[in-house]
Amino acid sequence: MSDELEEIKSLSRFRIFACSECDEPIEVHALEIYAKCPNCGTKHKCRAFGGIGAEIHDHIDAALEWAGISQEELKERHQRERDAASD
Ligand SMILES: [Zn+2]
Repeated sequence: MSDELEEIKSLSRFRIFACSECDEPIEVHALEIYAKCPNCGTKHKCRAFGGIGAEIHDHIDAALEWAGISQEELKERHQRERDAASD
């Protein structure tokens, strides 16, 4: 299997990073490009950090488009799965 496929399989759906302004932990869906800090409102660009290349997301985006699934649908689905799991 190619490294790229391994990378996609190991990609977590949600990521947490610390706000660069106030250190507040921010949770974002892997497909989210921007996240706003809930504490100080700073906008962060989320892609291409944490060792995950932006090109991986581009491949995922292309695959979703090919399958006729919007990123919004996928994000909502992941959110629902997670909400169900945390109940
Ligand atoms: Zn902040």
